[in-house]
Amino acid sequence: MTTATHTPGPWHLDEELDPTAADGTTICVMLGGAEIEPAKANARLIVGAPDMLAALQDAVNTCLRCDGKGNAYTMPDETEIGQPPGSSRIDCPNCASWRAAIAKATTP
Ligand SMILES: [Zn+2]
Repeated sequence: MTTATHTPGPWHLDEELDPTAADGTTICVMLGGAEIEPAKANARLIVGAPDMLAALQDAVNTCLRCDGKGNAYTMPDETEIGQPPGSSRIDCPNCASWRAAIAKATTP
C-alpha cells in the first residue's frame, strides 16, 4: 500500500471557503468563488478527502472477504463452468473498487 504524502487531515473550510489544513496551510484556492455551487460542494468534497481516504484504507484492511489481502478465491456463483468453487484466485470483489479509489488518490 502506498504511504500517504498529502498534508495530514483533518481539513476544513476557511473563512473564504478555501480548503485548509489544521495548521492553517491552504490546500487549494477555489477559483470562481467558493460561495457559489458547485464550487462550494467541491470545496466540501475536498475537505472530506483525508477522512474518506482513511475510512477506505480501514475498510480495505479489514475486508472480510479477502482478510485485507486484495484477492480471494472464487465463490460458487463466480466460478466458471467446469471449475470447482474455490479453485481460482480473483481480485476481491468486495474491496477492488475501494482499492482503485485509494490508488487514484495516492498514486503519483
Ligand atoms: Zn477484499
